[in-house]
Amino acid sequence: MGKETLYNKKSKIELKKILKEEQFTRRTISFYKYISLNNLDELRDKIYESWNSLNILGRVYIANEGINAQISIPSNGINFFKDELNSKFNFGDLMFKTAIQEGNSFYKLVVKIKNEIVAYNVSEKEYNMNHVGKHLDYKEFNKSIDDGAIVLDMRNYYEGEIGKFENAIIPDIERSQELLPEVKQLLDKHKNDKILLYCTGGIRCEKASSYLIHHGFSDVNQLNGGIIQYANDIKKNNVQSKFIGKNFVFDDRMSEPVTEHVIGECHICFESSDSHTNCANEHCHILFIQCANCRDKFQNCCSEDCSKFILLPKEKRKEMFKNGDIKFNAQKSQKIKPRLKDIR
Ligand SMILES: [Zn+2]
Ligand SMILES: [Zn+2]
Repeated sequence: MGKETLYNKKSKIELKKILKEEQFTRRTISFYKYISLNNLDELRDKIYESWNSLNILGRVYIANEGINAQISIPSNGINFFKDELNSKFNFGDLMFKTAIQEGNSFYKLVVKIKNEIVAYNVSEKEYNMNHVGKHLDYKEFNKSIDDGAIVLDMRNYYEGEIGKFENAIIPDIERSQELLPEVKQLLDKHKNDKILLYCTGGIRCEKASSYLIHHGFSDVNQLNGGIIQYANDIKKNNVQSKFIGKNFVFDDRMSEPVTEHVIGECHICFESSDSHTNCANEHCHILFIQCANCRDKFQNCCSEDCSKFILLPKEKRKEMFKNGDIKFNAQKSQKIKPRLKDIR
């Protein structure tokens, strides 16, 4: 098979239309594995070819340290996919997590080679993936919270804005590259206390827990399968959730509800809201929380400036932006993920 068939070339609009017209259901599942992988170019093409032929969509990262996959599979093909995974790839035992709430998550398949599957920007000498925190299931995690353990959210700040474990510490960072040194400092006086880490699906806590162990923390634990597995288990076993609100996800769904609580607020009017969106002005595109009123008022934009700007002819918009005549909220901050409410 020629190389040119190993990438998707259809436009986003075309792909979304195809997805909408599908006559079958899909399931969004995710898995990861820290495992030594080699010949990444070859592996990348093999994954793409195999999964594309099964009509799988999603985002897959591979690196020498392992694989991280978030994919959408035709429901009737899941067993076949798992068999193929076993026969064609040597990823070993895998824990599959199913989305808390289904929806159109992905519209194309992307398989990328990365330096790391979780990029914390810490030296390889500061962690050892053979020595990670103890995996706790939902029961053990809940019990440890009741017993007074320290709970730490290992995600980016904006993920915790719409949902989190009660009383969890949310480190004030915007990129995972800044997280670990910050966490080490936050916990400095708790080297012998019980520490509970959690993230979306577990992958970030594997490396983070190893880092903390390396730095002398003696009782490091992680939520097995992350919020996704926890929410599924809580529901299945009819147990009250200690996670409140929504789980932020990195696909078209943006989030999935775990409980009915709305813990966030609109970044424009500060009314209660937990709907993340990106500003509809493509030159701005800032990620923020917006209530329904403000969404109507600003036509899916973050500000009056942006909502007026998108009504201008395309050429005019391009020219103004290129000339630097106009700065939107996203450009007013040096940050990669600025908080809209800090800018205004
Ligand atoms: Zn609002
Ligand atoms: Zn904007």
